[in-house]
Amino acid sequence: MEKHNIPLLDLKRQYQPLRLEIENAVKQCLSSQQFILGPEVERFEKEMAEYIGAPYALGISSGTDALLLSLMALDIGPGDEVITSPFTFFATAGCLARVGAKPIFVDIHAHTFNLDERLVEAAITSKTKAILPVHLFGQCCEMSAIMDLAKKHKLLVIEDAAQSLGAKNRGIQAGNFGDTGCYSFFPSKNLGGAGDSGLIVTHNRDLYEKMKILRVHGSHPKYYHSLIGGNFRLDALQAVILSIKLKHLNTWAEQRNHNARLYNQLLQDLPSPVLQTPTITADNYSVFNQYCILTEKRDKLKEYLQERGVGTEIYYPLALHEQECFQYLGYRQGDFPISEKSTKEILALPIFPELQADEINIVANTIKQFF
Ligand SMILES: *Cc1c(COP(=O)(O)O)cnc(C)c1O
Repeated sequence: MEKHNIPLLDLKRQYQPLRLEIENAVKQCLSSQQFILGPEVERFEKEMAEYIGAPYALGISSGTDALLLSLMALDIGPGDEVITSPFTFFATAGCLARVGAKPIFVDIHAHTFNLDERLVEAAITSKTKAILPVHLFGQCCEMSAIMDLAKKHKLLVIEDAAQSLGAKNRGIQAGNFGDTGCYSFFPSKNLGGAGDSGLIVTHNRDLYEKMKILRVHGSHPKYYHSLIGGNFRLDALQAVILSIKLKHLNTWAEQRNHNARLYNQLLQDLPSPVLQTPTITADNYSVFNQYCILTEKRDKLKEYLQERGVGTEIYYPLALHEQECFQYLGYRQGDFPISEKSTKEILALPIFPELQADEINIVANTIKQFF
């Protein structure tokens, strides 16, 4: 049996050509001994605001904290219901529970894995305070429908754009639709830091000012607290590294799209339902944080690929209503059939920008061999 070495993600290939530039920036940052917030973080925030097309951006300690701080600033808490997807990373609903709000799940589209906007209205009650759409795997939700509903029912919108920095829906970038847009720079995201970090954007100046205060324990002026915030600050070391990488983000997204097209071509001999390749709707530009296929033989295929040195991952093996910690919400097996089916059939293939065409060929051929 031939054993390849094609990991799901190889960050060393991205680091190599940037190594000197990053090392120099880190050295300068160390020489300045200015580590928390400060001018480098402000510079990075300006660059991000410009890139995303939002007037205000705040560097945050992580994507999770970006969500948490958004909810705190929007006064979402006990007694409030927030509609979101059960097919997402834990943090989305975890943050809702942490502020005392109740996550209300609605199922996803079978082809995009994003919140099915057609199911949202039926889930709205007198307690609904917000919608929290998650732009999963690099593709935006149908935001015009979601924003129309939010307007009609006077709901807040917090976008979880952790996986979709740079993605566009009808030409507008992820994170620009709602009251806040939340991003993560976890190393495996399209723009990855050297550790944990994140960002919030908003078009609302008052909200921006409030979040800025909440980011430093609600302190304003220093040591005077009219609000209870937390430590949600971004490190200058992350800001200087992210700023260097940001210049390449669009090129990387194009390379990811190129890789996705190549997979789509090579895998088209295995038509659905044997294997389903990802669907990007006509209104969307995806940044392909993940390239996820669906197959009923998922577990066997994963094992087969692993034995042959091809890295894959399951995002996500459980829907959130199936998680032990969310049993108190009272959902049952069968409540979200598309999410549940996806957890059993989904598999992420290597898609990172530096992946070579011959490697994609190997992955596709190995999959074809399996079938
Ligand atoms: C990564 C991720 C987060 C959390 O971001 P961290 O920076 O890891 O805290 C939240 N939501 C989604 C959908 C994510 O993928």
